[in-house]
Amino acid sequence: MEKGEMVYEGKAKKVFRTGDPNLFIVSYKDDATAFNGAKKGTIRGKGQINNRVTNHLMRLLESKGIPTHFVRELSDTDTLVKKVSIVPLEVIVRNIAAGSLSKRLGLGEGEKLAFPVLEYCYKNDELGDPLVNEYHIRALGLAGREDLELIADYSFKINSILGEYLESVHISLIDFKLEFGKLPSGDLVLADEISPDTCRFWDTRTGEKLDKDRFRRDMGGVEDAYGEVQRRLLGE
Ligand code: ADP
Ligand code: UDP
Repeated sequence: MEKGEMVYEGKAKKVFRTGDPNLFIVSYKDDATAFNGAKKGTIRGKGQINNRVTNHLMRLLESKGIPTHFVRELSDTDTLVKKVSIVPLEVIVRNIAAGSLSKRLGLGEGEKLAFPVLEYCYKNDELGDPLVNEYHIRALGLAGREDLELIADYSFKINSILGEYLESVHISLIDFKLEFGKLPSGDLVLADEISPDTCRFWDTRTGEKLDKDRFRRDMGGVEDAYGEVQRRLLGE
């Protein structure tokens, strides 16, 4: 499948048309941004790692009954996906307090939450992706009631599947962000990526951070951490 016209260049990926109007190619970049684009940098090898890790996890989820946009890995950095109309929400699931939740509610990073927490942010860079609830989502027409119920149901199932799998390679799934999209048929599928850019992964035994917080917080060892995730998941 050949890349056609580029339809979108985001912070971490480019999206291309293909010869098939229902398929896109996503191409992962080494560019890294944080704090809504205020901090910029490069993480060598990130594009390749995030592409391969995302596809590995999308395949796992598909095998457990979660529909996804994944079609086929085309190269180290490029993947063929079903074109979807993205639901403009960042869906966040949290198992352990960290990041913005710790700040907002005064919880120590690493404090276990009694139940997984589901949050929604309105995907809007100009507004800085503000936190919204089901009422805002319905009032703004960002998603309907049935889609929201399905998004919540899929998100908790994804949390269980990924949490259990990652535990087997000694990674604790602290929190993560998902995006969903609609196919022309109206069916809802998981889209975008699941990678160290979009999840908090902590080494279960040492507590070491194996994710983008190393970049956000200038901790060093960013490339090594991403490489370690790839090794544990893909064995290379
Ligand atoms: P951002 O837009 O936040 O800078 P990226 O650089 O990751 O993010 O850009 C990828 C874009 O592609 C995102 O806006 C994402 O919502 C969108 N996207 C992901 N999967 C699909 C898909 N299957 N069909 C259409 N758009 C998609
Ligand atoms: N996240 C993401 N994209 C965003 C915001 C958050 O992938 O635009 C992920 C982030 O990597 C973390 C989870 O969502 O795994 C929760 O992030 P949080 O709200 O704590 O925000 P942050 O601390 O990143 O500002």
